[in-house]
Amino acid sequence: MNNSLQERIEQLKVKNATKTLNFFGRLLFDNREMSLWEHDTETLSWGVRRWRRKALKFSREYIRPLAAQADLHPHDFDPQPLMAAAARHGFQTLLLIPPLGTASILPYLRNTSLQVAVVGEEFSTECGGLALLLLAHNLGIAPLLLAGSFRNYILHLLPFYLKSWILGSPDCMSFAITEPGAGSDVEETEGGALAKLVTSAKYDPVRKGYILNGRKCFITDGAISKKVTVYAKIENEGIESWTCFLLENRMEGFSVGRRERKMGQRAADASELIFDNVFVPKRNVVGKVRSGWANMRNVLNSSRPVVGAMALGHGRGAFERCLEFCRKTYLGPKRLIEYQDVQLELADMAISLWAARSMIWQSCRQMRCYQSASASAKVFGSDTAFKVCNQAMELMGDHGYLHAHGVERAWRDSRLTQIYEGTNQINRLALFEHHMSTDFCA
Ligand SMILES: Cc1cc2nc3c(=O)[nH]c(=O)nc-3n(C[C@H](O)[C@H](O)[C@H](O)COP(=O)(O)OP(=O)(O)OC[C@H]3O[C@@H](n4cnc5c(N)ncnc54)[C@H](O)[C@@H]3O)c2cc1C
Repeated sequence: MNNSLQERIEQLKVKNATKTLNFFGRLLFDNREMSLWEHDTETLSWGVRRWRRKALKFSREYIRPLAAQADLHPHDFDPQPLMAAAARHGFQTLLLIPPLGTASILPYLRNTSLQVAVVGEEFSTECGGLALLLLAHNLGIAPLLLAGSFRNYILHLLPFYLKSWILGSPDCMSFAITEPGAGSDVEETEGGALAKLVTSAKYDPVRKGYILNGRKCFITDGAISKKVTVYAKIENEGIESWTCFLLENRMEGFSVGRRERKMGQRAADASELIFDNVFVPKRNVVGKVRSGWANMRNVLNSSRPVVGAMALGHGRGAFERCLEFCRKTYLGPKRLIEYQDVQLELADMAISLWAARSMIWQSCRQMRCYQSASASAKVFGSDTAFKVCNQAMELMGDHGYLHAHGVERAWRDSRLTQIYEGTNQINRLALFEHHMSTDFCA
C-alpha cells in the first residue's frame, strides 16, 4: 500500500473516532480500539470479570507450556503439579462461595455457571485435555451440591473443598453415568426408559448400606479420582430407581480398568471403573434413594453450557493461532492477512465465535438454568468450534496439519465436545422434549 493511501486511511479512522461525537453520541458508541475479548469482558459483572482475567493469565503461564507434551504423551504426564497450582489460584473450588469455596459472592446466584464457563473457555484456548483435567471434578461434585443432604455436605464436600482451597492439594472427583450398554440412552427420557443398565445396588440390612456391582466406562479423570459419584439402579428395578452413590477409590472391590486411547483432549483420562461387590455405607448415598434420574438431568443442565464454553475455547485457540500465522506468512508478495478473501474468512470465524459466546453467556446468566437453554449452548458452542477449527486448518494449509501450531489439536479437542455430555443429537432431542410441553415459540 503506498504511503499517501495509508495516510488517508489513518485520517478517516480519526474522523470516525468518538471525540468527534457530542455527549449523547459518546454515550451511545464505543470506538475505542479494543479487542472483542476486552469488550466482552467489560459486559461481565465485577466478580466474573476478575475470574476471566485471572484464567487468561493462568492458562498462558501454566497450561500453555505443558499443552503439547501432555497431548502427545498423556501416559507420562503427572497432573498433580498443575492441579495444585490451579487449586492455589482458586480455580478448583469455584462452585461454592467463601469460606468453603472461591466463587465471587455477589454474582453467585445469577452467574454460578458463568464463572466456571469463562474459566473453561480460557483454559481450553490453550489445551482441551488439560482444561478437561482441571474442570471435570465440577461435574463429579455437582450431584452433591445440587441434591446432597446436609450430612453429604459435611462428610464429603467440606473436606474436599478445604483440602483443595486451604491446603492447596486438590483431589479429583468424577461423575459416572455411562455404561458399556448405555450411553446416550441414559441422557434422554425415551432412551432412559429402554436403557439396559448393569450397574446395580442391593441393600444390605445387616451392614446398613448398599452392595454395588457393575461397571462404568469413559469416565473422565476416572483413573486419578479419589471419589466418584456413581449412578446405579436398585437391584431388580429399572432406571426410575437410579440412585447416586459416592464411591471412594480405596473401597474394597473398586478398581480401574481400561484407560482409553483417545483422539482429542488426551491429557485427561477416560477410564473404565469396575465395581465388584463394593460396600457403600448409607451415608454415601447422595440425596434420596431413587432420585438419581432427576438429579442427573439437573447436573447435565448446569454443566452443558460449560461444555459449550470449553468448545468455544478450542475454536478461539485455533482462530488466534491462525490469525498469528496469517500475519506472519507471505503468499507471493503479500502477507496472507492482506488478502481480502482471507480477511473475509477470519471475520466469519470471529463472528461465529462471538455468536456462540453470546449464546453461552446468555444461557449461563439465567437465574436457574433450564434444559433447552443448556442444550442449545452446548450444541451451538461445539458445532461452531468444530467449524472454526476446520476453517483455521484450511487457511493454514499444510501448516494447520502440524502438531507445532496446535490447530490440529484444537480440531481434535473440539470434536469431543460434540460427543460427551450427550451427543449433539441427544441435546437436540433434549431441547425438543422441553418445548413439547410449551408452545415451542422460539
Ligand atoms: C472422552 C470421553 C469422555 C467421557 N466422559 C464421561 C464421564 O466423565 N462420565 C460419563 O458418565 N460419561 C462420559 N462419557 C460418555 C459420553 O457422555 C457418551 O459417550 C455419550 O453420551 C454418547 O454415548 P455412546 O458413546 O454410548 O453413544 P451411543 O448412545 O451408542 O450413540 C451412538 C450414536 O447414536 C445416536 N443416537 C443415540 N440415541 C439416539 C436417538 N434416540 N435419536 C437419535 N440419535 C441417537 C448418538 O447421537 C450417536 O450418534 C465420555 C465419553 C468420551 C468419549
